Amino acid sequence: TDTPVRNTTARWRDLDRRHHLSPFTDYRDLKGAEAGSRIITRAEGIQLFDSEGEAFLDGMAGLWCVNVGYGRKELAEAAYRQMLELPYYNTFFKTATPPPVELSERLAALMPEKLNRVFYGSSGSESNDTVVRLARHFWKLEGQPEKQHFISRTYAYHGSTMASASLGGMTPMQEGFGLPLPGFHHVVPPYWYDFGGDLSPEEFGQKAARAIEEKILEIGPENVAAFIGEPIMGAGGVIVPPPGYWEEVQRICRQYDVLLVADEVICGFGRTGHWFASELFGIEPDLMTMAKGITSGYLPLSAVGVSDRIVEALLREGGEFAHGYTYSGHPAACAVALANLDIIEKEGLVERTRNETGPHLQQALHAAFDDHPLVGEVRGTGLIAAVELVKDKASRTHWEKLGRVGGICRDHCFANRVVIRAVRDAMVLSPPLVITPAEIDEMVVRLKH
Ligand code: PLP
Repeated sequence: TDTPVRNTTARWRDLDRRHHLSPFTDYRDLKGAEAGSRIITRAEGIQLFDSEGEAFLDGMAGLWCVNVGYGRKELAEAAYRQMLELPYYNTFFKTATPPPVELSERLAALMPEKLNRVFYGSSGSESNDTVVRLARHFWKLEGQPEKQHFISRTYAYHGSTMASASLGGMTPMQEGFGLPLPGFHHVVPPYWYDFGGDLSPEEFGQKAARAIEEKILEIGPENVAAFIGEPIMGAGGVIVPPPGYWEEVQRICRQYDVLLVADEVICGFGRTGHWFASELFGIEPDLMTMAKGITSGYLPLSAVGVSDRIVEALLREGGEFAHGYTYSGHPAACAVALANLDIIEKEGLVERTRNETGPHLQQALHAAFDDHPLVGEVRGTGLIAAVELVKDKASRTHWEKLGRVGGICRDHCFANRVVIRAVRDAMVLSPPLVITPAEIDEMVVRLKH
């Protein structure tokens, strides 16, 4: 006989099947009496609980975002207090509210030196759309309106709107959708394992950077607005660039006066053991996009850090930047972000990721998988990592049907009560930054089992 809990689960799954259209879901998988979505109802620390009371270790921090872990009352209270005081007011037309201006000052102190202003949105996609419009607007102000084109990389993920999916390099998001839009170009990613061939990682890193230069010359430097890249590519499979790559990318962008945009949506707020991965790689971006870890996902918020050079042009030339969102600088979301930064600072989560938990995770994965016959490479830094599965280790040959093996491992891990993600044939991890060394060990045991 069904318990009341089972009835509830059955009801939610049925409603989900009948009325909900979920993102990035193969709808065929939702058919049939036993099929359907798992319903997550509760979470605490790094543990998720489903509607049947089963517990899972969350190896993905939700979608790379719940940096301070689940169940943080401080964040709920910050939202509650702000919602009672002022739940919403816009920041258009020369108005502002306290939380976004306070948050801007905090971010200015944390971001790379040249970034001292912040423009807000509600999602990473919106922040990258803002970059597209702001970069084009900047070049118009500079008297170079033909600088309109963007360069990014295959396998990049920059969001799901038409412009951010054009910046991205995911073919399934583009084919049949009229994307990429005109003016968006892609070059090889710094993914030595798949594209490096006989070159050393360092040699390949230089080659991948020079591909950007070749693309700039092909389009004409006078037509290129910006290059955008995630310091470490996340959703593309945790692709850590070889040493020297970012230095060369930066040199090329400077040489041709192309704006450099760092997408820190995943890498930011401590994930790599630094506030931003730009620090780790010595990147000095002109624009930097942030989301996810900015509120640890408790409320939707994104931000674009804008460099002094761009701000000076905006102030000097004047005129309206005709762009913005109803929820730009949402007071409750910004209040949660401020409380989230307080937690990250008070608990030393950035330093802990850099010195303790990050190295612990990387070492534990290497110890567990380096000798495994089906593991080609373990890579990552801080609390972001991938385990690349291959058919043949020596020749770095993948399985014929890309994505299948990773998916099988992901489902197997789920059965072992640990949530990971599969990207093609890589198993991907990005746990909350509050994870302890003992929890990391437990997670790795469940991954390997
Ligand atoms: N940029 C990066 C690097 C991302 O990983 C994502 C989402 O995963 C985005 C942008 C888009 O963010 P959102 O899903 O909040 O629109």
